[in-house]
Amino acid sequence: MTTETPAPRPVAEIASYHAHIYYDPATTRAKAEQLRHWIGERFSVRLGNWHDVNVGPHDQPMFQVAFAKQVFATLVPWLMLNHLGLSILIHPNTTNPRRDHTADPFWIGTRLHVHDGVLPDESEAEAALQPNTTPHLPV
Ligand code: ZN
Repeated sequence: MTTETPAPRPVAEIASYHAHIYYDPATTRAKAEQLRHWIGERFSVRLGNWHDVNVGPHDQPMFQVAFAKQVFATLVPWLMLNHLGLSILIHPNTTNPRRDHTADPFWIGTRLHVHDGVLPDESEAEAALQPNTTPHLPV
């Protein structure tokens, strides 16, 4: 067989990460508020606005957590243990948002639909946003 395999992509393509934390405003918003509070006490991240209605490619209300590459190794395992039953989408930020959200992410909790039609195939990779939390508790 002479099938051409593309060269592996270097992790340097990843400029930062997002975690999107989904909730139902009628039933699980309090859990999302608890989780957001816990994250802010423990991690240096950028907590995004509450979106109580669907926005962008997202199929449920959610808020975003933007974080730097060096935060991944502690935040993501912590979310695995503490997601309170909520669905969380973890995706890299490269120059291809559509691929980041649909082909290359992973989920904690139940996987949800992502409306990839609204995402571009090419964009500037989003560098880590300025944190707006002040962590003071151990992970
Ligand atoms: Zn995102």
